[in-house]
Amino acid sequence: MDKQYDEKKELIPDTCNCGRGRLRRGITEYVTKVNGGVVVIKNVPALICDLCDEKYLTPEVSREIDKVVKDFREGRLLAKPIAAGEVELKIKEAA
Ligand SMILES: [Zn+2]
Repeated sequence: MDKQYDEKKELIPDTCNCGRGRLRRGITEYVTKVNGGVVVIKNVPALICDLCDEKYLTPEVSREIDKVVKDFREGRLLAKPIAAGEVELKIKEAA
């Protein structure tokens, strides 16, 4: 159990990677691709940096998201269709 706790602590930082922001509890959306489609999971609790908007998910939330994605992939979840568009970023890598 102690090990589990340590892992959690490691996964949930107190401060943002940007080094200056503070993490606050908030709600975000998690977007991922499943079977060539896009799934948007709404109402996802997260720690959000108040400076750069970087989002951190707890291991529990990550596990729940994995479950939802698995259910969706296996057709056990009914999702509300939304419009989606895909574009490519046309940028040359910095030399
Ligand atoms: Zn930040």
